[in-house]
Amino acid sequence: EAALQLVRDHEKRHQSEIVEFQAQEVLRAYGLPTPKTVLARSSDEAVAAAEEIGYPVVLKIASPDISHKSDVGGVKVNLRNATEVMETFKDITARAQRMRQEAYIAGCLVQEMAPPGVKEVIIGFKRDEEFGPMLMFGLGGIYVEIMKDISFRLAPLSRQDAFEIVREIKSYMLLKGIKGEQPVNFTALEDIIMVMSQMALDLPQVWEAEFNPVLINHEKAIVADVRMTLH
Ligand code: ADP
Ligand code: MG
Repeated sequence: EAALQLVRDHEKRHQSEIVEFQAQEVLRAYGLPTPKTVLARSSDEAVAAAEEIGYPVVLKIASPDISHKSDVGGVKVNLRNATEVMETFKDITARAQRMRQEAYIAGCLVQEMAPPGVKEVIIGFKRDEEFGPMLMFGLGGIYVEIMKDISFRLAPLSRQDAFEIVREIKSYMLLKGIKGEQPVNFTALEDIIMVMSQMALDLPQVWEAEFNPVLINHEKAIVADVRMTLH
């Protein structure tokens, strides 16, 4: 309900995209695991947030007009103290404003940083005029574009579909773990896929959605970025 309301609000404002700092609320409404995140409007607020969350943190540009944050140098990971947070806040916001002069910059997200060794996967859906929402699963980062190693299922997915979709990609063995690595928490991953399938049914206004990346290790999975495209 809360998620639907939020999406409707964005529709009314004629926004075609819901970016991470706005979509966090949707994720929370669905009980999805997200990193601790605070929107900071100044460098002082960013430092206060970082102290609260605990170092190291990630800083990300928060603007409704910037959907690919890295394209404007808008994501910096592994900030370890107040000085780094303070300087990075100023750098990120100034640079984003310079590169996108028409953009409204709300500030930066200060976000809990995932531990080293997590793997990145993408979970998304796209609507097909004929068949309806199609779920997509693949490895994250550069792999998706280069390897085209993606698997698909029509929504709604059964638990069995979720089980299969993560095992159908060629790089499945990377998730299972190589050279004595522990396997990722597949149950946590499948839970997120089931929620995305539900979102595709609940939110017809959302034409496309992407969790990119979901960060996962043997313990847990968290949705570290999300973007939704409206009709
Ligand atoms: P973009 O809008 O550019 O897609 P993301 O939020 O996906 O921005 O961040 C870019 C990259 O930074 C991610 O693909 C991931 O590698 C890394 N990253 C983002 N958030 C975190 C986090 N909380 N912990 C660790 N790494 C992160
Ligand atoms: Mg991303």
